[in-house]
Amino acid sequence: MIVGVPKEIKEREYRVGITPAGARTLIEDGHQVVIEKGAGLGSGLTDEQYLAVGAQLEPSAARVYEQAELVVKVKEPLPTEYELLQPEQILFTFLHLAAAPELTDLLLKKRITGIAYETVQHDDGTLPLLQPMSEVAGRMSIQVGAHFLQKEHGGKGVLLAGAPGVRPGRVVVLGAGTVGSNAVRIAVGMGADVTVLDIDPARLAVLDDHYGNHILTLISNSQNIEDEVSRADLVIGAVLIPGGRTPQLVPEPLVAQMSPGSVIIDVAVDQGGCIATTRPTSHDEPVYLDHGVLHYGVANMPGAVCQTSTFALTNSTLPYIQQLARLGVQQALKANTVLRRGLNVFAGQVRHHAVADALNLPY
Ligand code: NAD
Repeated sequence: MIVGVPKEIKEREYRVGITPAGARTLIEDGHQVVIEKGAGLGSGLTDEQYLAVGAQLEPSAARVYEQAELVVKVKEPLPTEYELLQPEQILFTFLHLAAAPELTDLLLKKRITGIAYETVQHDDGTLPLLQPMSEVAGRMSIQVGAHFLQKEHGGKGVLLAGAPGVRPGRVVVLGAGTVGSNAVRIAVGMGADVTVLDIDPARLAVLDDHYGNHILTLISNSQNIEDEVSRADLVIGAVLIPGGRTPQLVPEPLVAQMSPGSVIIDVAVDQGGCIATTRPTSHDEPVYLDHGVLHYGVANMPGAVCQTSTFALTNSTLPYIQQLARLGVQQALKANTVLRRGLNVFAGQVRHHAVADALNLPY
């Protein structure tokens, strides 16, 4: 199969759909990889690296789309890419169609097979192609929090590790899922005083087993949240209700009780945030002050560490790309229920209930 990889054109998107190692794997499998010139540069991957593994370099996105049977991307196609998509092509990328009626309409009209990274789902409900981004965001949250706790960046001037004879910074992590447990890992590594709260005792048990006395695990309820957040230096919001809006666990009066220069990193901001006072921010202006507390609400945190994110994402997408290329779309979807859950549009029909519901289309 011919696998095409155009350069991402969304503003500030530096990731790429395939690494040279991924291209090499596909070529070793007997496929052809056609990649747009400069597609990997944002992630530090040069054209020469792709050429060296046998990929074919093309000067324009149009040339890639013309040849590709399977298009592998990172973000959803933008309007300038609509006309480049070929009828009946397979498109494997983050799609977010529930919020994109125009793109959905185009994919249906062109009878494109659209498989969305964000809906590829294991039997237990976990989302294998979102998980790597949660791992990255969780680890990054502590790094970002430590940065903003420094006085010159607006924080109170606390070092998470403390110093001999001085207590370490207090980190409170709300949610012990993928983001939360990765945040805990880095906070412990930095030597912080770490408390993690979740409503699921099983999640807490995993962390308790792993870290023993190095962390405090607490069941998430209003009392525990109030006690811990009010004295925290750094709060990480990492809660998710699958398919729903994030519950606001920290009300505004509690934010007001935090000491000036404390920092909140609400990673869950993309689902509404779990702190009453957080709102979305951008990499250009990542923080704002409210009640004397620095708030960080960047919804695409992994974008800031694009090299790591490209590798983390493509490590997870590659086995699915291999299967699609080896078996063709029909057989691959038949063989793999995890991949099949990712199917959003096929042969002019919406094939994902959430997309159909959101756009009021037949399913
Ligand atoms: P996850 O499902 O792995 O973990 C969520 C955890 O929240 C679960 O352990 C769940 O039990 C817990 N939870 C639910 N209700 C709770 C409550 N009332 N109190 C405490 N814990 C509660 O999800 P995840 O992958 O860790 O993602 C967390 C959030 O981070 C999501 O909103 C996700 O979209 C977001 N995210 C944001 C970025 C970003 O760049 N900002 C990147 C990746 C993920």
